[in-house]
Amino acid sequence: MRNIAILGSTGSIGTQTLDVVRANKDLKVTGLGAGRNIVKLEEQIREFHPMLAAVWKEEDARELRVRVQDLDVKVVSGMEGLIELAVMRESDILVTAIVGMIGIRPTMEGIMAGKDIALANKETLVTAGHLIMPLAEKHGVRILPVDSEHSAIFQALHGEKKEQVHKLLITASGGPFRGKKREDLAHVTVEDTLKHPNWVMGQKITVDSATLVNKGLEVMEARWLFDMDLEHIQVVVQPQSIIHSMVEFEDGAVMAQLGTPDMRLPIQYALYYPERRYLKGDRLDFTALRQITFEEPDMETFQGLPMAIQASQTGGSMPTVFNAANELAVRKFLQKKIGFLDIYDIIGQSMSRHKVIADPGLDQILETEKETYQWIESRW
Ligand code: NDP
Repeated sequence: MRNIAILGSTGSIGTQTLDVVRANKDLKVTGLGAGRNIVKLEEQIREFHPMLAAVWKEEDARELRVRVQDLDVKVVSGMEGLIELAVMRESDILVTAIVGMIGIRPTMEGIMAGKDIALANKETLVTAGHLIMPLAEKHGVRILPVDSEHSAIFQALHGEKKEQVHKLLITASGGPFRGKKREDLAHVTVEDTLKHPNWVMGQKITVDSATLVNKGLEVMEARWLFDMDLEHIQVVVQPQSIIHSMVEFEDGAVMAQLGTPDMRLPIQYALYYPERRYLKGDRLDFTALRQITFEEPDMETFQGLPMAIQASQTGGSMPTVFNAANELAVRKFLQKKIGFLDIYDIIGQSMSRHKVIADPGLDQILETEKETYQWIESRW
């Protein structure tokens, strides 16, 4: 039996993780954590019977306690609640399916408590990879990627020697605005932006896919997960989202992982690594597919990717500024307070004014996040 706790169980990755649990009798849910969707969380508690449930606000926790008073589940709230969930004695794996930098502390606490991490929450590694990877090594826990690109690389690397890897090739769909130019993006709406061509995901990552910030975050995430220099990570646009990513080895061999766009595969691979299990679902039909095409990313129009690379090259606290500015800008865009191109302006201006802290600790990362938010709020 593998016992898992899920941070962010009501979201896109969280619910698909529960689909995987539903299909496998040897997975047990020990804890579920969510933000504000207590209706869905209650349904999940009734179906999966966790011992602990965490929500963000105490007022929601109070309501949830009443709703589930007939069940044997403890309901907690706030950051302490998320941490209590992350460190549960009864769990083996913590799935970090929460969105944003809020995942850093629970992830670090989970690692210190010896839990393997099935990591979807990329913002955590982007901003605190220099703290998280050594911490995982120290505590002998595995960071198992859930992001489809990183899972593809992880699968391609299985059984290989790290020193023989020449390059990581991260594929990108190009998002809903692939082929458009800057002037075309000036008036795109939230609704246009949320129409991803291949994947159904949470709103934040869907906007990030349209700006190519998501690809930038993935490059930064890959750097930490696979201990690679930025010079050896390349982004290739592959609009059909069939090749999930590739690894080029020193002899020129390229190993790729292919599949239909279905997040349950990387989730299940992380939960059972290094085993594979049967997964019900569509299979690739190459005769129907006919072609897989490639393009270079348009870095002039979609500045999210070059800005992420710049933030990563600068290092220290700059990736936190990049990420925090993006998180707030995306929130404002979704609230229709700013336009699509303002997301780039907010990130760019936040980065330009920032005085980099080299090798920041957790408090400095969180302080940088807060300071970046305050600066943006005073201007937009
Ligand atoms: P969603 O927006 O669908 O879900 C986010 C989850 O986080 C929800 O359960 C939400 O709860 C919860 N949450 C938000 N704020 C808090 C909080 N303050 N306290 C506790 N829980 C909170 O996001 P996704 O599932 O799309 O993405 C999750 C992460 O996985 C992101 O980092 C994303 O980049 C990454 N990822 C996602 C992929 C995908 O296919 N969706 C693919 C690869 C990576 P509630 O809804 O109840 O408020």
